[in-house]
This record gives sequence, structure tokens and C-alpha cells, in this order.
Amino acid sequence: MDNLYCLRCSREIEAGQKSVAVFVFAQTTGVRPRQKSSAQRICFCPQCSVSLAMGPAPEGALNLAAWQMIRDIVGADPSLTEAAWESLHGIEEGLLPATGTGGAAPPAGAGSYFEF
Ligand SMILES: [Zn+2]
Repeated sequence: MDNLYCLRCSREIEAGQKSVAVFVFAQTTGVRPRQKSSAQRICFCPQCSVSLAMGPAPEGALNLAAWQMIRDIVGADPSLTEAAWESLHGIEEGLLPATGTGGAAPPAGAGSYFEF
């Protein structure tokens, strides 16, 4: 498993953490044999996904297409929005409250941002 980073804020997205991945690849149509590019995976952390989805439409057709996909997916699953709010709360508090989500305990005194 390679490490993934949020495209917008560069936060590392750990395996199993909630995030939104946008897969992009290009292929030819009407050309034989069909040519296919390699696929790119673009990841956004919950905060950035929600913030992008709530934000104004971006410039550019490709950005707009991705934005619409993110809006769809954020709108379809409230757990992403919840994760974003929890994270924001964690940052404001400066410390991690014991949320009892069953995850591993965060290392003491580590990290300046919320980890799930
Ligand atoms: Zn982010």
C-alpha cells in the first residue's frame, strides 16, 4: 500500500481512514486498438471533500466534473460530513477527546492534527 496524501491540504490519508478518492484515466474512443492511459488516484481527506463539495464550482471542465462527483459522493454519505466535523472539532480543541470509536489509541503527545 502506498501512502496517500490529500491533494488539497497534503494531509496523509492512512489506510482505512475515511477519504474520497477520485480515479481518473483517459482512453481513446473510435480508435482501434483502444488506447488507455494509466489511472491516477486523487484523494481528498473528509474536511477537504466536504469543503470542496460545499464550495463554489471550480473553473475548468475537468475540475467541474470532479467537483460534481465529489458533491454526489459527499451528499450520498453523511458519515463523511460527520468525519469532517469531528476533525474540525479535534483541531479546535487541540486535544483528542476519547470518542470511543474503537480505533487504536492515538500516541500520547503526538500530532498536530486529528487522526482517526
Ligand atoms: Zn485535505
